[in-house]
Amino acid sequence: MLRTHVLVIGGGPAGSTAARFLADSGIDTVLLERDLSYVKPCGGGIPSTALHELSIPEDVVKKKIKKMRIVSPKGEEVEIELKGGHLCITGRGAFDAKLREIAKNSGASVVEAEFTRFEEIGKKIISTARRSSTNEEIKIKSDYVIASDGITFRAGSSIGHTKPDCLSTISAHITSDDFDACEFWFGSSHASQFYSWVFPSGGYSSIGTGSANPRELTPLLDTFIRRRFGMPLKDFAAEKFFGKTRAFKVPEWNGTRFNINNILFAGDAAGIVMPITYEGIYYAMKSGEFAARAIAEGKPALYKKLWSSRFRTRFLLMSKIRNYLFKSDAQIEKFVALHKRPEVQEIAVRLWLKKETGSSALISYMKIFKHLLKI
Ligand SMILES: Cc1cc2nc3c(=O)[nH]c(=O)nc-3n(C[C@H](O)[C@H](O)[C@H](O)COP(=O)(O)OP(=O)(O)OC[C@H]3O[C@@H](n4cnc5c(N)ncnc54)[C@H](O)[C@@H]3O)c2cc1C
Repeated sequence: MLRTHVLVIGGGPAGSTAARFLADSGIDTVLLERDLSYVKPCGGGIPSTALHELSIPEDVVKKKIKKMRIVSPKGEEVEIELKGGHLCITGRGAFDAKLREIAKNSGASVVEAEFTRFEEIGKKIISTARRSSTNEEIKIKSDYVIASDGITFRAGSSIGHTKPDCLSTISAHITSDDFDACEFWFGSSHASQFYSWVFPSGGYSSIGTGSANPRELTPLLDTFIRRRFGMPLKDFAAEKFFGKTRAFKVPEWNGTRFNINNILFAGDAAGIVMPITYEGIYYAMKSGEFAARAIAEGKPALYKKLWSSRFRTRFLLMSKIRNYLFKSDAQIEKFVALHKRPEVQEIAVRLWLKKETGSSALISYMKIFKHLLKI
């Protein structure tokens, strides 16, 4: 039986960051990842400020983007210069591997094995896992568990919890990367409760769309590709795709899941993804950091407090705007039109790119939406 103070389940951004902060505090930590070669289907976009805040080396960046373009259902385009920073596009395989390497260098043990179930949850927690290379079953005894296994939610399910509600996405890589901006295309004909996207990524681009209904993903992608590239999915795929389309879920934040006694949930497993933008990497890393800090102080309930004092208001605001936005294409038109105004762009960039901790940008954003959209 392996013994450790903290078992972290899942070596994505949330788990690796938690393991690194725990190990940096001198805490005995095992980080369990079922597949060290896994590459998550993901745009890999992270604001430059987030890399600096978390001291992640720049060599993970494949491409720097200085501009975002949002396109309304009727085709109104708004370009937003990312003044004071840029969007870093990373490849998720290499990015996650780098985060695990940082955790390992800080002193965490990285074990390639798949968590299967909790055998005992009491003063100590006994977890079982299966080593990926040998299929051998191992048991790990720990005082705390951080469940950061993403939307597979194996750890949460094994204590009877339901998965966070999710939206579905479909994405693919295309051979061109000569787009000058990250593009967000809105419109219910090709994205429902979501947007369709084109993210240039250094050597290729990620394209995709999302929906609440997984069954409509392929037709929606077809409509988006016709709109953006002027040809049907089938022909476009034959000419431009490398690899197949991949479907994957993104959780919808509802703000309720932090810890159950000494089991703490982080990242996608806690549903911590920003409404509307569906940005999850930065928030997964920060939730891992906060969960680690709470454990380091021996107060698991502190995790919710740390997270809430930094992020709850902005998640609530974005949730409110999302509920407004996705009611109809007419609402989305108004939302996109609003972003033509320089002062709205400036506040959006401060909130999104710079991850400002103060409340002034947030209050200004709230005021604008309250007055102009009457929400
Ligand atoms: C198509 C798409 C595009 C996206 N684009 C962006 C973007 O550009 N920018 C952004 O910020 N966010 C984006 N997101 C969201 C982002 O991918 C997630 O929010 C983020 O990866 C969450 O990190 P995590 O560590 O919580 O979970 P994950 O990244 O899912 O990591 C979970 C890890 O746990 C491992 N695991 C699972 N089960 C087990 C088990 N039983 N035992 C051991 N290990 C296990 C997995 O192998 C994985 O490595 C996108 C999501 C999708 C679907």
